[in-house]
Formats: sequence, structure tokens, C-alpha cells
Amino acid sequence: MAARILDGKAIAQDMRAEMTADTAKLAEKGVVPGLGVLLVGDDPASRSYVTAKEKACEKTGIYSKEVRLEATATKEEILAVVHDYNQDDRIDGILVQLPLPDSSIEQEVIAAIDPDKDVDGFHPVNVGRMMLGLPSYLPCTPHGILHILKRSDIPTEGAHVVIVGRSNIVGRPLANMLSLKNAMGNATVTLCHTRTKDIGSYTRQADIIVAAAGWPNTVTADMVSDGAVVIDVGVNRVDDPEAKRGYRLVGDVDFDGIKEKASAITPVPGGVGPMTITMLLYNTIESARRRKG
Ligand code: NAP
Repeated sequence: MAARILDGKAIAQDMRAEMTADTAKLAEKGVVPGLGVLLVGDDPASRSYVTAKEKACEKTGIYSKEVRLEATATKEEILAVVHDYNQDDRIDGILVQLPLPDSSIEQEVIAAIDPDKDVDGFHPVNVGRMMLGLPSYLPCTPHGILHILKRSDIPTEGAHVVIVGRSNIVGRPLANMLSLKNAMGNATVTLCHTRTKDIGSYTRQADIIVAAAGWPNTVTADMVSDGAVVIDVGVNRVDDPEAKRGYRLVGDVDFDGIKEKASAITPVPGGVGPMTITMLLYNTIESARRRKG
């Protein structure tokens, strides 16, 4: 069986078109959602993520403002920018691009963001609210995965979802969201990591497998049962002399092998990635609605 390709890019485009219509309606009421971006240092990958997010804002009718600090910026300078964004009424959502050059201050910086403007959903208040199933900003990548499943008519209710990877930005929040008693949850969740013995024995029981480990070929065809749905979160560069840039992007699963067994699979690129930015826009618009009605 050849798997259905779950086209995250197309789903993201549909959602962005809906959001553009939403921002147009808000604009009629004089409300323009705003995103405040803070980029520290000159890491090329972070720079390109930030540029992509700002372009997406512009296309969707969201105002964006960027502050860029040198990699040598002190914690106080970084916190001062966050404080300014907290006070600025044009700003509904704050994005501090991670990782910071000094990753040891990340938690303190995140905790300084006004939870009502925490559109990344990383502030402890929002993490706690998510855990309790209360209204909160859901972290963008796992939230995007839930929308891919929903819009592809793949039910999570009663499904056994096996997640490989337990990071605070993908695996653990996704496990939490899927286990909630609501329309996008009601799944039975198994969370695997590097200390899990025989990961294949779990993934072979899965109706839905989510790979978020950060290594190519972490999930191979022998680890997938016929008809399973496979969501590949991974973004890994592998050398490819034939590619223009000398590398190409691959996910965490053996796409070619698995697509012959799975019923549906997300590609890399063009699967989960486009949804992450989309959910950031979604949360920013939601914040503008909550804050400015
Ligand atoms: P991370 O913080 O490095 O966490 C990786 C997790 O995977 C850890 O929990 C680790 O286990 C586990 N792991 C690593 N190798 C494993 C293996 N062989 N078997 C089982 N578990 C393994 O990574 P992350 O930030 O969650 O990102 C994961 C991947 O998703 C990366 O490729 C990243 O680039 C990609 N990503 C994509 C998007 C997007 O928008 N498309 C967004 C975020 C991340 P331990 O905890 O035991 O170490």
C-alpha cells in the first residue's frame, strides 16, 4: 500500500487564508494583531526562521516588529526588550527566537514574558494551563500536528499514539495534549526516549507514530505496522553533493521504506514544518482577539 501524503504545506496555506480573512475582519474594528520578535546573535538558521515568521506575518495581516541584539548582549539587555514588548499595546505576541547564545538564561527569559503574550506557549503558566486542559497558548509544533491530523480526518480518539522524543517543545507537550479529554485528544499515549528498551516493540503497536528525535532513520519500516499513520517532525541536514547547497533536509523516519507500509505519512520538508509558523500566527491572532476584542 502506498501511503497518503499528508501535505502540511497545503493545510498551512488553507489555514493562513482563513487567518488572513480573520485579520481583515479585525482590521475593520481597528484591531491589528502584532508580533514582537527578539533575535539574539547571528546564527543563520535562527535568522532564517525569524525572516520566515516575519514574512508570514506580513502576508497574513499581522504587524511585526523585530529587535536584534548582538550575541554578546547581557541578560539585562534581553530582559529589557521583553519588558518593552510586555508594555507595548501594539504587541499581542512575543517571540524570543531560541536557542539563545547563552542557553542557561532561556528559562528566565521565557518566564519574563507576559503569559498573555506568550504565543510560543513555553511560559510555565501556559504549560500548567495546557496540562490542566484550561485555555492557554498551545506550543506551535505539537498544536500544528493536531491540526494536520484533524484536517486529514485522522481521529485521535481511542488511537494508540507512540511518540519518539520527549523534549519540552515537542514530545512532552504533544503527549499531554493528546491525552486530554477533548476533541483533539482522547488518545492512549506512549512516550519513548533514549532510555526506552526496544522502541520498535512500542511503535509496532501504534495507530499513529510521531517521530521527534532529531536523528535520521530513528524510525524504520520494520518498526511500523501496516496501515499506521506516521508524523515526522524531524529536520536533519544530510550531505548531498548533488544538491545546490551541498545538503538536503530529511526527517527522523525512513520515508521511502515506510511509505509502502503506512496509510499516511508527512513528508520532510512540507509536512510539520509549515504548520509550526502557522500556529504562531494563529496564537498571535487569538491573543489580539482576547486582548483587544
Ligand atoms: P531534542 O530537544 O533534541 O529532543 C530529542 C528527543 O528525542 C529527546 O527526548 C531524546 O531522548 C529523544 N531521542 C533522540 N534520539 C533517540 C533515539 N534514537 N531513540 C529514541 N529517542 C531518541 O529535539 P526537539 O527539539 O524535540 O526536536 C526533534 C526534531 O524535530 C529535530 O530534528 C528538530 O529539528 C525537529 N523540530 C522540527 C520542528 C518543525 O517545525 N518542523 C520544530 C521543532 C523541532 P532523551 O530525552 O532520552 O535524550
